[in-house]
Amino acid sequence: AVPVADVQIGDLVRPELRGQEPYGAPQLDVPVRLNTNENPYPPDPATSAAVARAVAGAAADLHRYPDREATRLRTALAGHLTADTGVPLDARQVWAANGSNEVVQQLLQAFGGPGRLLLSYGPTYPMYPEYARNTGTAWRCEPRDERYGVDPARLVDDLVTHRPAVVVLASPNNPTGTALPLSTVTAALEAAPGLVVVDEAYAEFRRGGVPSAVELLDGHPRLVVVRTLSKAFAGAGARIGYLAADPAVVDALRVVRLPYHLSALTQAAGCALLAHRTEQLRTVDALRRGRDDLVAWLRARGWTVPDSDANFVLVGPFDDARAVWDRLVARGVLVREIGGPERLRVSIGTPDEMAAFRAAFAAVTSAGA
Ligand code: PMP
Repeated sequence: AVPVADVQIGDLVRPELRGQEPYGAPQLDVPVRLNTNENPYPPDPATSAAVARAVAGAAADLHRYPDREATRLRTALAGHLTADTGVPLDARQVWAANGSNEVVQQLLQAFGGPGRLLLSYGPTYPMYPEYARNTGTAWRCEPRDERYGVDPARLVDDLVTHRPAVVVLASPNNPTGTALPLSTVTAALEAAPGLVVVDEAYAEFRRGGVPSAVELLDGHPRLVVVRTLSKAFAGAGARIGYLAADPAVVDALRVVRLPYHLSALTQAAGCALLAHRTEQLRTVDALRRGRDDLVAWLRARGWTVPDSDANFVLVGPFDDARAVWDRLVARGVLVREIGGPERLRVSIGTPDEMAAFRAAFAAVTSAGA
């Protein structure tokens, strides 16, 4: 054995974490940032003033711990989700945490763990394997079909064969933008031995006609629908994600959550943002149009772009995606290297940002990258 005095920190870290880099897109200070699927529009001044007032109110009581149950916030989130989907929901069916990142990690803390499997379909959100690793859950990623969908018959087959404790389906999927029909979720619910988690981080951006999996909650106690205030709701900086599920799922999460996991400041800011939901969601139609215009513009230039129901598009194939990424950065435009070695993902920005992207992309790609 190594003498105690010679032990290095690197030897002490859990073996599966050794040499791992922290997850995250580069945070570069460039003029046009289209790499993390944020809403490019800030809150209007009345909304940010309301948030500031709410946070000031909470600051007067900072010597006390916050409401552990975040009841006001969960009630407001339930109201928002009901307004969005038409499905009646109350706070007992809603859980909130610091971003949907924390929500899904808590789901695996409660429902995954050693000897259990998380199943997903890729290319998809790169945090899924990290949640699995962090919670000691095994992870398996099956390929999506050539149009980035998930074939229901294959899905059922995989569920029966691998018996995952949790299957997570991102819809719309990051980084492809692909939304799944509800029939695929229903097929999963009929075959899955465990939880079926539908990650709807980008749900509000879907094109007309694709309903939310929230509509399936009634009668499906193993369905979990995850949402966030980070994307369409234009609240990424507040770090608030949430889910809707059977109250028994919420009760399991209340066991694994750290006490007071949502700060009083976060809860106050979230309630104020939700009180201004109409204003916060006002930009969604413009972002949808920006997306559809970008898809058409890229396709007209011969690029392959899957249909997108989100606020980003995946474009390629490039001979050297890294070189295109570098040259775009040199022109002040930041996109994301993701979705395979030949592709780039572009978030939808304001019209000015999209004009800057088009000019830079046209210049960079005609230069023979
Ligand atoms: N799910 C998907 C599919 C995402 O793309 C993201 C954000 N990149 C998240 C969840 C996490 O979002 P947040 O933690 O900000 O709610």
